[in-house]
Amino acid sequence: HAKEAGRNQVAIFRAEHEVQRKRGSHVEQVLRAAKLEEELYVLFQPIVDAHSRQLIGFEALARWNSPVLGQVFPSEFIPIAERSDVIHAVTRSVMNKAVAQASRWPAQISLKVNLSARDLSPPRMLELLEQFEHSGFDAARMSFEVTETALGSLDMILDTVALVKTKGIALAVDDFGIGYSSLSYIHKLKPDLIKIDRSFVSRLGKNDGAEAIIETIVAMSRNVKASCLAEGVEEEAQIDALEALGCDQLQGFAIGYPMSGAEALVLIETGEKPPSG
Ligand code: C2E
Ligand code: MG
Ligand code: MG
Ligand code: MG
Repeated sequence: HAKEAGRNQVAIFRAEHEVQRKRGSHVEQVLRAAKLEEELYVLFQPIVDAHSRQLIGFEALARWNSPVLGQVFPSEFIPIAERSDVIHAVTRSVMNKAVAQASRWPAQISLKVNLSARDLSPPRMLELLEQFEHSGFDAARMSFEVTETALGSLDMILDTVALVKTKGIALAVDDFGIGYSSLSYIHKLKPDLIKIDRSFVSRLGKNDGAEAIIETIVAMSRNVKASCLAEGVEEEAQIDALEALGCDQLQGFAIGYPMSGAEALVLIETGEKPPSG
C-alpha cells in the first residue's frame, strides 16, 4: 500500500506541476497581448516616519485587471513578465501612472517605484530616466526599489546605479535580509534606503532572534548612511518595537493597506484611511 500511495503522490505532484506550467504559459500569452496602458493600474501603500508617525510617502504597487483572467497579483504576473521584454512595458507603464498620480501630491510626499533586474541594464535605465524626466516630477521625491536578489553582481549594475544617482533619484534595497549581500556589497552600492524584509518583522516577539537581526540591519544602515524601513508592519505592538530598534520608516497593513490614487489623496489631505484592503 505504501508503494501505491507513493506512486499516487508522485502522480499528483506531476499533475499539479503541469497545471501550474500551463497556467504560467497562458498568463504569459495573455500578458503579451494585453493593452497594458488600459489594464494595469497602481495602488499606493503609505509609509510613515517611525518617530513622528507622519506620512512621508507611498510605494506604488502594480495591479493587473485582465479582461481574460480577471485580477492578477504581481506575485504571479511580475515573475512571468520578467521572463521576457514585457517587463519593460510593465515598468514603464507603472512608473508613468504612479508619477501622474504623485504629481498631485504636496512636495513633502515621496514616491517609490519597484524595478526588476532587467530594468537595470544601462540602455533600459536610460529609457526609463528619459521618460521620468519628461514627466517633470521632482527627482528628489523619487526612489527606485530593487530587491536584494535582483541587484546581482556589483560590476554589472554599478554604472546603472551611478546613472540613477546622477539624476538625483534615490535607491532603495527591497526585501533586505533574505538574500546574500555582504556588508562590503552594500557599502559599495551606497543605497539611500534599506527595506527590512517583512519576514523579520513578523517574527518579532517570537524569541527566535528577529530583534537581533533587525538591530544588525539598522546598525549596518547607519554605517553606510542609509535610512532603514521596516516592511510588513501588521500589529500595533510591532510599531513601538521597531521604533525602539531604531527603524526610521514604517510600512505595512498596520500603517495602511495599498489604496487607490484617489484614496491616497484623501489620506494626504484629511488623514483619513480607506476602510480596508
Ligand atoms: P514589495 O515591493 O516588497 O511590496 C510589498 C508587498 O507586501 C506588497 O505586495 C504589499 O501589498 C505587501 N504588504 C504590504 N504590507 C504588508 C503587511 O503588513 N503584511 C503582508 N503580509 N503584506 C504586506 P504586492 O502588492 O502583492 O506586491 C508583491 C511584490 O510584487 C512586491 O513586493 C514587488 O516585489 C512586486 N511588485 C509589485 N509591483 C511591482 C512593479 O510595478 N514592478 C515590479 N518590478 N515589481 C512589482
Ligand atoms: Mg517594493
Ligand atoms: Mg518590499
Ligand atoms: Mg517584500
